This record gives sequence, structure tokens and C-alpha cells, in this order.
Amino acid sequence: MKINFIPLITLLMIVSCTSSDNDNAANLVREVTDSVAPLAKEAAHNYWMGTTTGENRYFTEYSSLNVKISDIYSNPVKFNKIKELIERGKISDPLLKRELDLLYNLFLANQADTLLLRKIIEKSSLLEQKYASFRAEFRGEKITDNQVEEILRNSTDNEILKEAWLSHKEIGNLVSGDIIELAKLRNQLATSLGFDNYHTMSLKLSGQDPAEVSALMDELDGLTSNAFASLKKEMDTFFSKRYKTEVSNLMPWHYQGRFFQESPQLYQVDLDKYYKGKNLEKLTEQYYESIGIDVSSIMENSDLYSRSGKNQHAYCIDIDRNGDIRVLANISDTEQWMGTMLHEFGHAVYAIGHDSPKNPYFIREAAHPFTTEAIAMLFGRLSRNPQWIKEMTGISEQEMESVAEDCRKSLTLQQLVFSRWVQVMYRFEKEMYSNPDQDLNNLWWNLVQKYQMLSKPEGRDMPDWSTKVHIALYPCYYHNYQLGELLASQLQYHISNKIMDSDNPMEETFTGQKEVGMWLMDNIFTQGMRYDWNEMIERATGEKLTAKYYAMQFVGNL
Ligand SMILES: [Zn+2]
Repeated sequence: MKINFIPLITLLMIVSCTSSDNDNAANLVREVTDSVAPLAKEAAHNYWMGTTTGENRYFTEYSSLNVKISDIYSNPVKFNKIKELIERGKISDPLLKRELDLLYNLFLANQADTLLLRKIIEKSSLLEQKYASFRAEFRGEKITDNQVEEILRNSTDNEILKEAWLSHKEIGNLVSGDIIELAKLRNQLATSLGFDNYHTMSLKLSGQDPAEVSALMDELDGLTSNAFASLKKEMDTFFSKRYKTEVSNLMPWHYQGRFFQESPQLYQVDLDKYYKGKNLEKLTEQYYESIGIDVSSIMENSDLYSRSGKNQHAYCIDIDRNGDIRVLANISDTEQWMGTMLHEFGHAVYAIGHDSPKNPYFIREAAHPFTTEAIAMLFGRLSRNPQWIKEMTGISEQEMESVAEDCRKSLTLQQLVFSRWVQVMYRFEKEMYSNPDQDLNNLWWNLVQKYQMLSKPEGRDMPDWSTKVHIALYPCYYHNYQLGELLASQLQYHISNKIMDSDNPMEETFTGQKEVGMWLMDNIFTQGMRYDWNEMIERATGEKLTAKYYAMQFVGNL
């Protein structure tokens, strides 16, 4: 396309007072893009190579490239230029202004005193080692976290359960002092950059307002607490029989996990049998194809099956923000891996959209990490959706109906149990960073009693909060998993109701509906980071993020 320059020049003369700010901003963004983009691509490639081969040299290279990227963002001259341009408020191009705001946060996070940053990194690595090397001592034997989980899930002996739970909690005494010190260092970092505390800083730098997130958590609590209370009663009746003890004697070790963060096994749903012998790679590709999104080239570039040395989990990576998107997985023919494939390719289809050539480099990301998580969850949930299983694997209507009720119940249980756990995590971290010197043991148990409705073992005054590794090493992020679930439900409802006119909105599978893929592409994926996440959600669905569709889906009485 040819551009006629004459009117543009006239326009530039009229707005000449702002043109130099616009030019300066555009130049600055270009400079940063040119220096960051090649390093980020190389870093992503090294991470990919490291996780697919297990060879250390790639991880070393990955770390040193990340240091180089931080060096770029820590440049105080550039930071001050960005700050000045924003403060003068004369950038007339909204996209350029958005890029500058995003760069401001990236630079601000790197303006801290390097000595302090180093202390925080050292303290974190020390803690990482402590968590990694800890083994619970159970009846004279050292056992791994997985073994603790196994005992808690399978044993029916009250004494064994109690001992296993207590043995794992011993890690608390080894790490709690370090975590409090680390929290104070993180707070020092936050105040040096002008924030109240580290919790506020973490949320704000990622584009979240703590008050906004707290309001969502309150809304969620209000909509789900009664439903959780009645589910909890059902669980307690079940466990009181299972462990042959009074309901009033049920303790935190009776809920089949160290933290009561996952749903206990109340319903026996075996979905693995439907995926046995199936080609999950094909099913994933076929499904996305049916909603109008071609993932075949991503599938080809991916690394999907187990190999020695390879990372055992799953993730999706956008190597170059230019369409080189890959998934790492270790497929086996189970329901869990079907869900994982749909989940990771949910991230992938989002990336296809935000990598659009129409978006400048710093816009080529999801509006927030939780919005791409939401898309992954929206599709990942399908592997447990009886209708979807029928459509994709060809089971009979009768067979589908025979598992439908248990599927629904187990999904509800899983969601509500997890959501109560997130309430504890979010509120604890928020409070801890507001005052790390308070009685944290008490704070933790008050939250656990209130939100998870678990009984505190009599007289217990131990740092049980510090036994969850995320508190120490992945701070102030946990709530995003819940926000992802809320958005997944909001999108599920909006698409089913407004885009498809479905008569069963909360269980709609979208199979064969090309307009669904198109709508997601146009309204969410290609928007990238153009708008703040809540503005993007409002533009797409007509409402800001809300817990009401999540409640509609999993509580159902609205
Ligand atoms: Zn994910």
C-alpha cells in the first residue's frame, strides 16, 4: 500500500508541540525493542533446548541472557526518559502510550539497589535448596513429599495420617525465619521503589490493583461460601465413615493432602478408559481445527513425547513473538494428558493471535498471565466434559449419561476446594507483607479455619504457613490461578450465550463452531496487551471480570 505523505506532514506541523514527544517515545521504544528482542529470542530458545535435552549448558546460557536483559531494563537514563515522557502526558498515539507504560513497569522493577537485589536472590536460592533437600521423617524413615501425599491419600489409619502430616510440617521450622527475613527484604525493595509493600508492588507491576483483586476474592467468597459449607458437610460425613471417627474429630490430615488444596476422592470417575489407545495429538489438532484455528504447524514444532533427560512436565513457549510457538509435553493416553494438551494448546492459540504483525513487540503478549491461563483452562476443562468425550471419542449417549453426573460433581468439588485454598493463600500473603512481624502462625490458622473450614489441632502454634513453597519462592502470584478460572467461566458463558445461542451454556463444548475461534481471535488473542486486562475483558464480554459466572457454573443456584 502506498502512503500519501503530504497530509501527514501538514498534520505533523499542526501538532508539532507533541510531535517531538511522539518521535522520542517511538525512537526509545524501537531502541529497547531492538536490544531486547534478539536476546529474549535466544533466551527462549536456550530454555527450550535445556528442557528438551536436560543439558546444563543451555540453562547456564539462559540465565546469562536473562542477566543481559535485566541490564537493559536497569538503565537509569532510559528509565528517566520514559518517566518524563509519561509525566508530560503529550503522547497522542494510544498504542505508543501503552507501550511506554508497559516499559515503565519493566524498567521500574529493575531500578532497585543491586546489592539488595543480590541479597534477595541469595536468600531465595538458599531457601530453594532447603525445600529441595528436605525429607520428612516418618517412623524413622526419610520420605519424599510425594510419599507423604500418597500416605495421606491412601491410608485409613488415623495415627499414620497424623504422623505423616506432622512429619511434613517440620519443614516449617527450618524455613520460617528465612521467609520472614526475605519478606522484609522484599518489602525494603518495594518501599525503595515507592510502593507500600512487596504485595502491592508485585500486583501493581503486573497491572493489577490490589483493591480490585481483593474485591473479586470477596465477591467469590460471597457467592460460593454456602455451597462450600454444604460440600464440606458431605465430605465430613464421608470421611467420618472412612476413618471411623466422629466428625468433630476430623483434623487437617483427614482430607487426603498436605494442604487440602485438591479435591479428595469422593466420586469414582474413571475417564482414562475413554482415552486409552487414542491419539491425543490428533484429537487436539482436530478439535482446534473444528473451532477454526489451525495448530498443525505448532504441533509439528512441538516436542510431545517422553525421552530421557527431558523435562517431565508440560508448557507452551512463544520463542520469538513472531509465530514460533512450541509445546513441550510427555503424552500418555490418559484423561490428564488430554486435559494438558488442550490446556497447553490454549496458550498456543492465544499466542498465535497476539503475535499478529499489527501488534508492536511489547504488545505481543497476553493481557495478563492469568488471561492466557483462562483460555488454557477453558479448553483444558473439556477432557472431563462428557459431551466432549462423546464428540471426540465416539462413546454412546448412554455411556455419556452414565458418567455425566459424577463428572459434574467431581468438577464442582475440585473447583470449590481449590477456590477456598486460594482465599487462604491470597489473604495470607497480603497480610504478611503488610506486617511480617505479626503473629503469622495465628493469622494462617484463622484463615484456614474460616475459608477451608478445617479444625486447628489443639494448641498448635507452628509456622505451618511456611510449609507451602509458593509463599517463599513464588510470591504473590497464586491468586492468578483463581482469576484464570473466573475468566474461563465468564468466557464459557459469554461465548455460549452471545456468540452461539446455546441452550446448555455451562457445558457447551464449541466443537465445530468456527465462529468461536474467530471471536476469540478478534476479541481476545489479537488484542494482546493493547488494553489493561480488565478493559480488554469488558470490551470483549461487556462486563469487567466477575465471579458470578464461575459461581453459576460450579454452584449453579443463581
Ligand atoms: Zn497454563
